[in-house]
Amino acid sequence: MSKILVAGGCGYIGSHTVVDLTDHGFNAISADDFSNSHRKMTEGISNLIGKPLKNYDVNLCDIEATEKIFQENPDIEAVIHFAAHIYVPESVEDPIKYYRNNLNNLLNVLECCMKYNVKNFIFSSSCAVYGNTKQLPVTEDTPFGDAECPYARTKQMGEQIIRDFCIANPNFNAVLLRYFNPAGSHESSKIGEAPILENTHLVPILTEVAIGHRKNMTVFGTDYDTRDGSCVRDFIHVMDLAHAHTKAVEYLLHGKNETTCDVFNLGIGNGVTVLEALNAFEKVNDLKLNYSLGERRTGDVAAIYADTKRSREKLGWTPKRDINDIVKSAWDWEQNKAWLTE
Ligand code: UDP
Repeated sequence: MSKILVAGGCGYIGSHTVVDLTDHGFNAISADDFSNSHRKMTEGISNLIGKPLKNYDVNLCDIEATEKIFQENPDIEAVIHFAAHIYVPESVEDPIKYYRNNLNNLLNVLECCMKYNVKNFIFSSSCAVYGNTKQLPVTEDTPFGDAECPYARTKQMGEQIIRDFCIANPNFNAVLLRYFNPAGSHESSKIGEAPILENTHLVPILTEVAIGHRKNMTVFGTDYDTRDGSCVRDFIHVMDLAHAHTKAVEYLLHGKNETTCDVFNLGIGNGVTVLEALNAFEKVNDLKLNYSLGERRTGDVAAIYADTKRSREKLGWTPKRDINDIVKSAWDWEQNKAWLTE
């Protein structure tokens, strides 16, 4: 059973990936310091994987603690690196926090990979690297645009750091995965999105309004040049996204990579507007949300969605769920997650 280190394995996408890896015969271990995840999340994960999750409560900016993980696990075959701060508005307010964490922990993990002979690496990148591109859908060859915020810049810089690392270490193989808009949760409702910090993402805001944790919400901008004036995004179900990581691990372990640093977009390739997502939530869950139409939010791009041809063909990955599945599973999770904070 190949051992995979999931850095950030108790966070939102990391936890779903640990479960998907286990479902496909991998031995996933995690390193997570719970800076933006609940300690109890390990219970939900352990329940789904049928054994206690092995998690190292380590801040990966601490090189000595990080090194110990590699020393104790000389059989790690690949690392999936999720551990990062992820909130756009927070990154604008506190850029140092983002550069310090997202770059230092990446450098430390890469250094350990080199020192402990781990040759396979998967990086959580983002469609934010494309900036406000006019070229839609975006392909992996669409050039980087101006980063809209420090968070996006840490992803651009992270990708460049890994490219340089691959050039310097020709036996090292990386896959860069550019996520579009991950949402939804595991169908069991045993795990899901549960950040510690204030969430700013659309789908969990819909569920927070529905359950009454927020009185109302605002649709940010209805005068964009899109079919209903609200922004267009490519919402990808977190379980489909998680499975793409399993596919990427298999791709590297079977030596199917075309270069030492391959890049893939992970979306479903369909743009959905903010109002369409909101209406889908109301319809699928038979609920009414209290919302108003408001001003544009600073830093938002009007529309972005993926060309997914490469990930479908090369990774053999086919997303199976759509916006209806996303809003249903997100709402199921919201109604089931109180135990996390009890
Ligand atoms: N959005 C919104 N109201 C909210 C939160 C988000 O209208 O309370 C919109 C946001 O302006 C963007 C889309 O939903 O157009 C997706 O935003 P999110 O923060 O989820 O992801 P992003 O695309 O910014 O990474």
